[in-house]
Amino acid sequence: MPHEFSQRLKALPPYLFKELDRIRDEVKSRGVDVIDLGVGDPDRPTPAHIIEALAKAAADKANHQYPVYSGMNEFRKVVAKWYLSRHKVQLEPETQVCSLIGSKEGIAQFPLAFVNPGDTVLVPEPGYPVYRSGALFSGGQSVFMPLLEKNGFLPDLKAIDEETLKKAKILWVNYPNNPTGAPASQQFYADLVTLAKKWNIIICSDAAYSECTYLDKPHPSILETPGAMEVAVEFHSLSKTYNMTGWRIGWAAGNETLIKGLGLVKSNVDSGVFQAVQLAGMAALEGPQDSVASMGQLYRERRELLTKGLITAGLKVFETPYTFYLWAHVPEGFSSADFASKLLNQAGVVATPGNGFGPSGEGYVRFALVQEAPRLKEAADRIASLKF
Ligand SMILES: *Cc1c(COP(=O)(O)O)cnc(C)c1O
Repeated sequence: MPHEFSQRLKALPPYLFKELDRIRDEVKSRGVDVIDLGVGDPDRPTPAHIIEALAKAAADKANHQYPVYSGMNEFRKVVAKWYLSRHKVQLEPETQVCSLIGSKEGIAQFPLAFVNPGDTVLVPEPGYPVYRSGALFSGGQSVFMPLLEKNGFLPDLKAIDEETLKKAKILWVNYPNNPTGAPASQQFYADLVTLAKKWNIIICSDAAYSECTYLDKPHPSILETPGAMEVAVEFHSLSKTYNMTGWRIGWAAGNETLIKGLGLVKSNVDSGVFQAVQLAGMAALEGPQDSVASMGQLYRERRELLTKGLITAGLKVFETPYTFYLWAHVPEGFSSADFASKLLNQAGVVATPGNGFGPSGEGYVRFALVQEAPRLKEAADRIASLKF
């Protein structure tokens, strides 16, 4: 007898990259030189001093046993110090910070701590698919908040009806935003905190791309907002900042009860982050930050290069100093999927159709700037030579 997947698995939307992967492999097998700008995974290596810290820590047998599930005190202290220097936010390391096996892990598990069946989770779209699957796994119902260009890709908080707000347990935001690259303002975060207090909603802020910029001034953290510590938790990651996607380390920081709930779930599911990786993470956060600045410049150059090609091809792009994504309008007469498929078939360029991130992504494609400049130039030239 075949084993049947659970209702919750069956309720998941189809995997975003699956169909695209299939066509990509088919195009590749025809011998086409494919330039993959699909998945958001940095192409450059982790900075050497972080790798050295890992090698040293891995050789120390003190790090070979189960870690503390909520994270080494030292790691959490370093995170608290980072918030103080970067955002002037004071955190109690032991109660207001929790280490994560990559922020995706925390994002997926957090709803298990606070959502009951029938509760609502407000999810931005287009957006990172994990907000929705986490809500689903917790038995909650996700309600989409459309992110529209005319609103700077911020959710229109006034458009959420009272019934939904009454039932809402969690509201997710993600700035700088994947897939659009849009930032949030301090005013937006202040409005969000006011809303959260009025309706007793938890604000979950995913700040994975906060350091992914060439600007000197940090993108605001929601925890800077007066009152945020009562209602908010911020998810952070070393993945994009230090090219450490494979290492699996991040953190959650914010309200004590929210951190405690997440920690309780985690203590029943995982056993924390390998201590050597936490020590390497500390080396990343405390060591020289010149790699972060040069990453910002690198993505700036790449963005300019590809933007030029797309504009020559007649496409309109959303300009931003943040993230390593380029969010572009598809030409008149195309759907996102048609255009992504044309790019792949006729230019050998992989981009992600915007509707894969949610219905409001229709009409856009996302390019991840994760190839070296000459390859991006080649992609831009090929796209520019297409006729629409
Ligand atoms: C990449 C990404 C993450 C998390 O990555 P981890 O490697 O799990 O820390 C979280 N949110 C968004 C929007 C991302 O794009």
